[in-house]
Order: sequence, then C-alpha cells, then structure tokens
Amino acid sequence: MKGTEKDLTRNSQPAAELSLDGRPVSRGVAIGKVVCLYGENRQYFRTEIIKESIPNEIDRFRIAHDLACRRLRKVSGSNGARSNTSFSIFDLHRAILEDSTLKERIESVIENDLVNAEWAVKVVTDEYIAKYRAIPDEHFRDRYIDVEDIADQLQSALGGGKHPIRLAEDSIITAKELRPSTLAELSVRHPKAVITETGGWTSHTFILARELEIPAVTGIKKLMRKLKPGDVVVIDGYQGKVILNPGQKTLEKYRVRAARFYESNQAVDIPSNDPIKTLDGREITIRANFDIPSSFQRAKRLGAKGIGLYRSEYLFNRFKGYPTESEQLKAYSEIAENAGPERARIRTFDIGIDQMIDSSGRKEKNPALGLRAVRLSLAIPRHLRTQIRALLQASYRRNIDIILPMVSGPDELRSVREVIERESALLNARNVPIGSPRLGAMIEVPAAVFTIDKILEEVDCLCLGTNDLVQYLLAVDRDNESVAGWFRTLHPAVMTSLKIVIDAANKAEKPLVVCGEMAGSPFYVPILIGLGATELSMNVNTIMRVRRVISGIAYEETKELIDLIMKSKTADEVEDSVERFVGGHWSHLLSGETLLGRKR
Ligand code: PEP
Ligand code: MG
Repeated sequence: MKGTEKDLTRNSQPAAELSLDGRPVSRGVAIGKVVCLYGENRQYFRTEIIKESIPNEIDRFRIAHDLACRRLRKVSGSNGARSNTSFSIFDLHRAILEDSTLKERIESVIENDLVNAEWAVKVVTDEYIAKYRAIPDEHFRDRYIDVEDIADQLQSALGGGKHPIRLAEDSIITAKELRPSTLAELSVRHPKAVITETGGWTSHTFILARELEIPAVTGIKKLMRKLKPGDVVVIDGYQGKVILNPGQKTLEKYRVRAARFYESNQAVDIPSNDPIKTLDGREITIRANFDIPSSFQRAKRLGAKGIGLYRSEYLFNRFKGYPTESEQLKAYSEIAENAGPERARIRTFDIGIDQMIDSSGRKEKNPALGLRAVRLSLAIPRHLRTQIRALLQASYRRNIDIILPMVSGPDELRSVREVIERESALLNARNVPIGSPRLGAMIEVPAAVFTIDKILEEVDCLCLGTNDLVQYLLAVDRDNESVAGWFRTLHPAVMTSLKIVIDAANKAEKPLVVCGEMAGSPFYVPILIGLGATELSMNVNTIMRVRRVISGIAYEETKELIDLIMKSKTADEVEDSVERFVGGHWSHLLSGETLLGRKR
C-alpha cells in the first residue's frame, strides 16, 4: 500500500521511551495515538472507509472535482486584467484537472484502498509530482508545481461540503502547524490533545485549544519525522513535554494525572453573581470571549458580564467564503441576546485577503502587515456594508458594540462611521428596524497607542488586543516558532504602551476591556489591574482561576508591582521583578500557574 500510513507504522520491536521538550500552550495531560495531519491550506488525515461507503466517498470527490473545475474556469475566464501568462497557467491547471486519467485514478484509489477522498487525492497527486520531478528537462520538471496547486484546489473543494469526520476516540492531532479552522472542524470528535512544530501561545489555534480544554504542546522541532501515525504518546500540557513510546511506569504515572485532569474538567462549577473585588475593594468586571457559543451560558454562571470579544471571522468559511446578511443577522442577534444588557462586543471580520476564496494568486509577502482586518473591510466595502447592515438590525432592542480590528488612527474609524450612517439611512428608508450600536476600536498596533487620545474622540469604547499589540510592538510574528523567544509579553515597551492606553481611556472615562490572552492568564492579571484595567475578557475555562487571583490580591500591592516593573529596563528584568514579587506576596495564589508559551 504505497504512500499510505500503513507503511509508516512501527516495526514490531518495542521502541525506547523518548521525551521531547516543547512549550506548553494549553494545560492538561493526555495519553493517545498519533494522527498525522497533512496539507497546508486544507488539512486532512488518512481514514479508512467501509465498502458500503465507497459510492458516497466517490460522490464527494466528484462534487469537489466539479467545484474545483468551476473555480478554475472562473479565475481563467473572468479576470480580463490578467496577463497572457496567467491565463495559460490557469488553462493548464484546468487541463490537468479535467484529464480523465487523474480523476479515474483517484476514484480507483478510493475504491481499492478503501480510503477517504482526501487521502486518495494525496496519493495520486504525489505520484504525479514524483513523476514530473524525475523528468530531466527543467521546463517539464517544473510542472510538478502545477500539480501541487491542483492538489491544493481539490483539497480545498473537498472541505466545502458536509462530510462526517472519522477520528478515533484517543486521537492526538499532530501537525507541523495546525490551522484554527482545522481544530474547530476536528473538535466535534473530541481529540485528546494537540502537538505541533510551530505556533505561539497567542495563536488562534491554541486560544481555541484552551477554550476546548484540549492539552497542547508546541515547539517540537522536526516533529513530523519523529512521530508516526499510530504511535502511542503522552502529552504533558503543563510542562510542555511529549513522551513517545511511554514505558509501563510512565504510563501509570500519567494515567493518574490524565484522570485528575479529566476530573477537574468535570468539576461542578460554583455559580456566582457576586461582584468580583480585590481585597481592598476595587471592583473588576469579568467578561467572556465568545469563541464557542455553548460556553457562554457557563461563563455567565461563573459571573461573566456580557461578551468582551466575539471574533466574527468564526462565521467565515475559507472554502465557502463570507456568510450572508441573514446568516450574520441570526448569529449576531443570538450573541447579543445572550449578552443582554451587559452588551456584546462584536468585532468586524479580522481576515486577510489571502483567506478570500475569490482572491486566487493574492499571496502576500507579509500577511500580518498586509490587506487585512479593517483595511480589507474598507478596500472591499461590499462585505463591510453587508456586515454593518446585519449588525444594525441585530442591534434593534439589543446592546451591541461594533469593534474594528487593527485600527491605526482616527481616519479608519471615521470611514466606518460613514458606512454605518449610510447603511442606517438606507435601512430606515426601507422601514427595517435597526438599533444604535456603539463603535469601538481594537487597540493592537503601535500607531493606535500613540494616537490614543485622538482615537478616543472617535469611539465609545476600546478593546485592548494584547496578542497583536505584542506582535506589532516587538515586530515578532505571534505564530512563528523561530522567533517565539522574542515574543516577550513583559517587554518594557509593552508595559509602557499598556499604561498609555489604559490611562488615556480612564481619563476620557470611556470603557476599556482587555481581551487578549493576557487578560485570562492568572499570572498577568495583577499586572493589568495594577495598570488600571477594570474589565478583563477571557475564555470560560480561566474565569474561576482569575476570580481566585483577583479576590486574593490588593490593588495597592499591584501598584507597588507596577512601580517595580516601570523601573525595569529589559524584559528579563521585568520578569525577574514579577517573579520575585509574586513569590513574596502571592505564591499561594499563583503556585500552580505557568507563564504560557515559555520554554521550560
Ligand atoms: C488580540 O490581538 O489581542 C486579540 C484579542 O485579537 P486576536 O487574538 O483575534 O488577534
Ligand atoms: Mg488581534
């Protein structure tokens, strides 16, 4: 069974136990079997199917194949501005895709090897690629790149339809890099844990893993060469460890820990609606980051007031595109209904041009600095207008704040306000009931920090996005493993920026919610409180831990800590000051906590 997982499985010799060190990015312990994910754009793995499912699987493939052909026809036929060269490339892709031998070969692999369509596409396109690469003539040899593109088109199209995900109960997802959309897709099958080679503690994949309570470890070099499908591994998401081929003793030790972790997740919540105060009476409001709809009711029971951040791009599907106005209206209405008078802060789409399906070929060199977030919304305003219309209607008798991502100054806010006014007038003219949402900005790029007073004149509220603020202030890609050591949340530049923004919002008496991962990380909470933050938004699983910290510290002490931090010159010095202070004052509150993402 050439090219399939079967020939990757271990030989029968019992292999030696091997401990691999990485960085902990989601707490917990798990024992399970490795499932390797492949593919960059759409990620997939190999599954076996039963004979009776062959016709369904072949149908799935045919539908996806038709869709990929239609998409290519659209790209090659519709864009008059394209050069002759790009016409010929897309035409060539179509010719390869429409070639009946490729199609027949993929269908025969599904039928004979009893595998899913994704795997059959991989096996067959890998064969084509290998053949092209072996051709001595350079011109023909380079055709393998076209086949790679076609494989990607087919995999994307396979992601567009509904299909059952088959994942064994004890699966440990292993990938070079895991996309948040893949984790969301796989989460319905409750994978036990996640291991990746790259990714930061603030990357969306791990934000989601923490919310789903899936233990995760990242930063293991050459992971995909070290682990094979079916390998038994232990994951320690507290220490950042992966143990391959665990021996009997290790298994016994970790079985106890995994059971403890499982039990702690099943622990009955202690509902509380009491105000959350420090020992000296400073009230702190906890809000919920609404990433998974089902978790909000629990967050409410635990004392969360309203929704501090809803990332509306969760409604966006990379394989289907933007949600319609009515889909958005339904989603936003439900979210705002849940939040009630405490308001829902709904962020407009924070996606990049490279994620839009009708943007074939628009790969950006620096996507984080490219056409994304509010810039993309303003550059292609039809999608913004649709989103604003949905938000205006959902705000009818409901409390919504529209939050714009990646704002760099007052001008973007003015432009969006104009869109809101225009769409409001049009809806009013049609007698469609609408409300008056407030307007707010994510503060997450340095330019926004230094124009904060001017931004405050344009907004009703702010959300402080510490994940991106660290990334952009320090010029460190938050998802890039090789610079993870430079992602220093406690860098003096970050501390000073947080202080500038929080002070300005407090002075202007406009509400500010800290909604980056710092807010839900118990270790950072006293720092944010000391800086003057009074509203923290976080995922449901950290609420109890954060509440415990808040009610065990005094605001006056946190101010002492800030004095020490502000005197420190380097990130190391800040971290040392914080660790010493925590050791001397709050070790009883923070002993079990780790600075997420740090290499142990
Ligand atoms: C942030 O940047 O801190 C934030 C909350 O938004 P996201 O993580 O979605 O970029
Ligand atoms: Mg952000």
